[in-house]
Amino acid sequence: MNSRMDPRINPRTNSRRANSRANPRTYSRRPRRVRRRYSRTGLIIIAVFFTAIGVGIFFMIANIITMAFNSNSPEVVEAGLFDNDYGDYPPEEEITEFAPGIPGVPMRVEDINDTGYLVLVNRQHAISPNSNLLVPLSPPEIPVRTIVGMYLHPTARQAVADMFSSSRRAGFDGLFVTSGYRGYALQTELYGDGDDAYVLPPGHSEHHTGLAADILVLDMGMGVEIMANSPEGHWLADNSYRYGLILRYPRGSEPITGVPFEPWHFRYVGRVHAYYMHRNNLVLEEYIQLIQDRGVINIRHGGITYYVAFQEVQDGMLHIPYGMNFAVSNDNSRGYIFTAW
Ligand SMILES: [Zn+2]
Repeated sequence: MNSRMDPRINPRTNSRRANSRANPRTYSRRPRRVRRRYSRTGLIIIAVFFTAIGVGIFFMIANIITMAFNSNSPEVVEAGLFDNDYGDYPPEEEITEFAPGIPGVPMRVEDINDTGYLVLVNRQHAISPNSNLLVPLSPPEIPVRTIVGMYLHPTARQAVADMFSSSRRAGFDGLFVTSGYRGYALQTELYGDGDDAYVLPPGHSEHHTGLAADILVLDMGMGVEIMANSPEGHWLADNSYRYGLILRYPRGSEPITGVPFEPWHFRYVGRVHAYYMHRNNLVLEEYIQLIQDRGVINIRHGGITYYVAFQEVQDGMLHIPYGMNFAVSNDNSRGYIFTAW
């Protein structure tokens, strides 16, 4: 039957609802039922909607927390920023000052776990070669090209390996570590009669720490400008800080560092410090001076605020931060640098 022919059926919608208007009894009953059904469905939809949003927010927050945790962990390990286990804290009355406004706890300096990552080694500051912790840099377990018999501190080795992996992803395959740890004898041999401005006297080379590596492009030799102007040289200078490595002797810094521009010499200091030095164009001498002068600086990195504080040893004691994670390195000049968060 053609619905247009039936006056009870709404020609526009063809619906039975329209039809019901013809009958006052059904009109009073059916729309109410229809309305009730809509509102129940609406409630269910709203409930499902908000449940979905709730579940979504829960997983979002959980994900953010997990990401934050995961992103902190490797950095903390790589930078040596670990939670030192110094046992129970003393009573409140023994609390001192770690840095202005930050409570501390006294501790004998020989009980401090010194990473040595911020030692200053230059013409004025000598160091004894430290071969205690060295590990071979050789492949195949890490993607670093070098010669047999090359050694680095394990943390520096990991940083160099990570940087090499990234450099390969960036398309650079020719990087090569030409020098890592050097003992006193090798430095003496290299130094010779002291004619080479790039070679520091024995006892004054960062290579004694196992934290420094000379990285060159395999087929370019030791040409300063060739290396500096190569795509690899630019990439290393721009990105090494991401791995906790600094370009130790940048162009124009010779009056401060005492060493001419070396586009190949990278020194591990940890990611937080490397980031700050890179961003503020500071060499290690300037950075350590800044911390010594200010007493404490704040560095915001990876969503965490780090308090980088300087202390001199007093009566054989340092003041560790109360209830915070921290790492410590002697600066090989005046005292100790804490990294607390
Ligand atoms: Zn070097």
